[in-house]
Amino acid sequence: MSASTSSFADDHKSSLSAFQSGEERFVWGLDKHTGDLWYLEDDTATESRAFVSERIVCPVPGCAAKLTTAHRTKKRDGLQHFARGGGHSRESIFHSQGCALIQDWLRRNYPRSKAQREEYTNEKGERRADVLLTGPDGDRIAFEVQYSSLTPEAWQRRHDSYQRQGIIDVWLFGHTSNQLKLTADGTVQANPTHEAVVQSGQALMFLSPDLSVVGVAVGVGHPFDADADRYLDQRVPVFNELVSARLEIHSLTDLRPNTRHGLGGEWLHGLYARTAALGTHNTTALAQAARTRERRRQEREAKQRTWEARRSPQQQRIRALFGGVERWSRSEALAEIRAYFGDYLKGRIDYIVNPTSPPELLVQWQCVIYFELIAGQSSPFGARDAFRAIERCGIGMSTDAFKQVVRYLYQLEDGGFLRQLPGYGRYSTFAPTQSGAWW
Ligand SMILES: [Zn+2]
Repeated sequence: MSASTSSFADDHKSSLSAFQSGEERFVWGLDKHTGDLWYLEDDTATESRAFVSERIVCPVPGCAAKLTTAHRTKKRDGLQHFARGGGHSRESIFHSQGCALIQDWLRRNYPRSKAQREEYTNEKGERRADVLLTGPDGDRIAFEVQYSSLTPEAWQRRHDSYQRQGIIDVWLFGHTSNQLKLTADGTVQANPTHEAVVQSGQALMFLSPDLSVVGVAVGVGHPFDADADRYLDQRVPVFNELVSARLEIHSLTDLRPNTRHGLGGEWLHGLYARTAALGTHNTTALAQAARTRERRRQEREAKQRTWEARRSPQQQRIRALFGGVERWSRSEALAEIRAYFGDYLKGRIDYIVNPTSPPELLVQWQCVIYFELIAGQSSPFGARDAFRAIERCGIGMSTDAFKQVVRYLYQLEDGGFLRQLPGYGRYSTFAPTQSGAWW
């Protein structure tokens, strides 16, 4: 049995295909005299035949048919029904052989514990375990060999029932396509029941009775970096991330029952420990990053409030000055507006392009729109509101004034100082942006 983990892709691929194609090996029967498991050693078919037909029956629940042996030169010797196949599905043979394998493994390695098949776990018969291991101290671990389909709800009910009874349940899913599906690149395609098992804190495991190995789904986790506020590329093998998880194959002899996760052993223990450590690290780091984000948000808001407190009085002063303008080019309003923007005008208001105008002469009607409806404001408005604001200030404009106003508002939207609101009217509605209102 070659079952150690391989780090080479080719080895992994061939061990995966061996895992999936594990043949239907019928080697465990039941001794009808003792009710115990009986194992057919290889190359003993002929000498065991008389004994088998007299005492050994089929272990598939509800069958108990008499068996005989088959000697094979290329494959291993095996048990078989007298009537061909016994009418069992492959899955029920695998299930019965898997249970027998687990029971035998537990009995051999833990002689002080009791390993029983399909025993009722309480008097009410609430839950029957495939194999129930009872330790010398009375602690119990139920092994479930699951070849048939199982809904997440049905799994949860069984899991909860075990928990209520203080039993740790270990789920070993079948290696056939009913449960184990692999993509071409060897990725495990987990179903919702598998997800539920992993969410409960247990690794997703598959059993191949033929090879006496367990395949464990190992996914990739990433550490979160609080300072960078993102997950790092570094890869940590974890059991609780099934997206792109791969199967790592381990001999049953590498695993050990324990009362923590049901199954442990050095390698599996390492996987659980790394997963837990990454989980703890990420919980702390994510909380820290959230606190940092919140602190920065508060700092930004405080800064904005300070800024607004400085800008508001300037805006009010400018609005008040619009009333007393006689010559715009020499007005106090224009001087204040130029001081207000400094280097931050950035296309908010156009200059008058006219050879006779002094340089840096801002368009008066645009200044009015900007300070009446945008600077320090938050209410939505349309072209009509803008036009009325100009009229209120008594500014004379050319006949295409309304068109110019509309064009100006779209220009401000392009510059990021206004945003258009969804609406149904003929003319668009705008609202000041942060940059429009306060800079
Ligand atoms: Zn049978």
